[in-house]
Amino acid sequence: MLIQSRPIKLTTRTGVSVNRTLPHGRLRMIGAWCFVDHFGPTTQTDGMVVAAHPHTGLQTVTWLFEGQIEHRDSIGSVQIIEPGQLNLMTAGYGISHSEVSNPTTERLHAIQLWVALPKHAIEIAPAFEHQSQLPTLSLPGGKATVLAGEFLGNSASTTTFSPLIGVELQLEPGLHQIPLNPAFEHGFVLASGSARVEEDQLNPSDLAYLEAGVESADISVSEPSILMLIGGEPFGEQILMWWNFIGRTHEEIAQAREEWNSRGERFGEFEDRIGGWIPAPELPNLRLQAR
Ligand code: MN
Repeated sequence: MLIQSRPIKLTTRTGVSVNRTLPHGRLRMIGAWCFVDHFGPTTQTDGMVVAAHPHTGLQTVTWLFEGQIEHRDSIGSVQIIEPGQLNLMTAGYGISHSEVSNPTTERLHAIQLWVALPKHAIEIAPAFEHQSQLPTLSLPGGKATVLAGEFLGNSASTTTFSPLIGVELQLEPGLHQIPLNPAFEHGFVLASGSARVEEDQLNPSDLAYLEAGVESADISVSEPSILMLIGGEPFGEQILMWWNFIGRTHEEIAQAREEWNSRGERFGEFEDRIGGWIPAPELPNLRLQAR
C-alpha cells in the first residue's frame, strides 16, 4: 500500500513545511511507529526553529541526512545531532524540548518519527539518549545503519519498549531484496532518490506499507537512494494521539494540555537560544477517543 506524503505547516518561527505520511486515514501505525515527518532537503539551514513544546506517552526519534540540529530539553539535555547519529527522547509522563537547526551547514535534511509507548510505559520518567556509534553493515550494492532493533544480526542498543526495527538504507541503482521479520509489519519511507518497493513507486517522502507475514521486500532503485525502514509487531493497543501528546483517554490528554498551558512543573523548564514556548491549541468540541 502506497501512502503519499502531504505537506504540513509546522508551528515554528520560520513557518517551515514538512511532508507527513503517518498518521494517515488509511494507516494509523506501523508497529509502535505512529508519526513520520520528512523535512527538506533545503538550503534554508536556519529553517528549523521549533520552540519549547511538551510530549507525553511517546519517544521522538530524530535522524539527519544533512545538516545539524541542536536539541534541548527539560531534563537538562543539550545535544547537537549530525547525520548518522540518533537523538531519542522518551517522553514518558512528560518532558518539554526545543529544536533549532544550525545555519553554518549548507543543507538541512531530516526525518522525525514518533514511537508510541505501550500502556505499561506511558507514565515512566522522561529520558534522553544520543547514539553516535550505531551498527552499520554493508549490503550488496548498499549500506545499512541500524537505528533501533535488530537487522541481519546487527542490534542497536537504543532503548525501546516494544518489538520494533528502524534502519537507514543507502542503496545504489539496481534491484535489492531486503529481508524482513515476518512477525512485523513494515514501512519504507523514501528520503531521497527514486525507488519502487514491490508494486509501489515512491516519490521522496512517500511511504510503502507491507503488512505482517512478509519475509522480504523487492526494491528497485534507479538512482542512489536513501530509504528508512521502520517496522514492528502490530501494536495491539488503541492510542489517543492529539497534538504532541499520546495517551489513552480524553481526560489524560486534557490534563496534559492544561498542565502545559498553565506552565506546571510536570513539563519542567529549560533555557534555549529560541526563547518562548508553544501553547497547546484548544481541544476540539468533542470527546477524544483512542483508536
Ligand atoms: Mn517535539
